[in-house]
Amino acid sequence: MKQKTIKSAITSKGIGLHSGKEVTLSFLPAPVNHGVVFQRTDMPNQPFVPAIGELVHDTMMSSNLTKDGASVGTVEHLLSAIAGLEIDNLIVQVSAAEMPIMDGSAAEFVKLLLKAGIEEQTTNKKYLRIKKLVRVEEADKWAQFTPLDGYELHFEIDFNHPAINKTGQKASLVMTPENYINQLSQARTFGFLKDIELLKQNNLALGGNLDNAIVLTDDEIMNKEGLRFDDEFVRHKILDAVGDLFLIGYPLKAKFEAYKSGHGLNNKLVRAVLADPDNYEIIE
Ligand SMILES: [Zn+2]
Repeated sequence: MKQKTIKSAITSKGIGLHSGKEVTLSFLPAPVNHGVVFQRTDMPNQPFVPAIGELVHDTMMSSNLTKDGASVGTVEHLLSAIAGLEIDNLIVQVSAAEMPIMDGSAAEFVKLLLKAGIEEQTTNKKYLRIKKLVRVEEADKWAQFTPLDGYELHFEIDFNHPAINKTGQKASLVMTPENYINQLSQARTFGFLKDIELLKQNNLALGGNLDNAIVLTDDEIMNKEGLRFDDEFVRHKILDAVGDLFLIGYPLKAKFEAYKSGHGLNNKLVRAVLADPDNYEIIE
């Protein structure tokens, strides 16, 4: 397998979920062994912020990267699309401190990247292969990796809500670009109406609405169009995990399993793996 980038540059626009601000987004091809790197085009000197786990400094409502005072927020859905399409090298230019939310899933990013075209490069792809169990826990939540010659994700959530109870709290995905595009990329983020009101009072989720999130009242879904998958909620949690885990710096060869995990615990798992070189090896 060879490394991949995109064939040509492509630009789009959207709004930040938390800031509500308009942001211009451009994808540019990058050379081999470059990795995925964000660039803040609105800041003096247009600083670069690489997509690596050690730069995650805030996981309150989303995954946020910061380097030398330059931040890029809510990166997980785009990184999920990049991982899903097996892209290794990319420059992501953004004109604000937060990525656009698009439709709340990774589908728009997938569309843009496919429109730009995926290009195979000349150098072999590198993978991070997990060699033994690595597990992190927080109260009753946990996330872990075990060795696997491939990449699978298994996720369970536990929301006591009628709309979620009846649609399934558990899902799995065997990662291939095809499975990612068809079974995961359209799963939208979700939130509870009572939390969203509180977030808005605190100047968060200002760009959030029924076009970019599934919104739940105490007993039902507010979105008229309904769900895109029966188990869209847990699928979105897997979509988030794919993005958060991509920050490990390489595509994975591993089995990921999690119970009620989120951005914080996913990042803790990434850091736990990298903290001990015995946990993994880099292979071609
Ligand atoms: Zn998400």
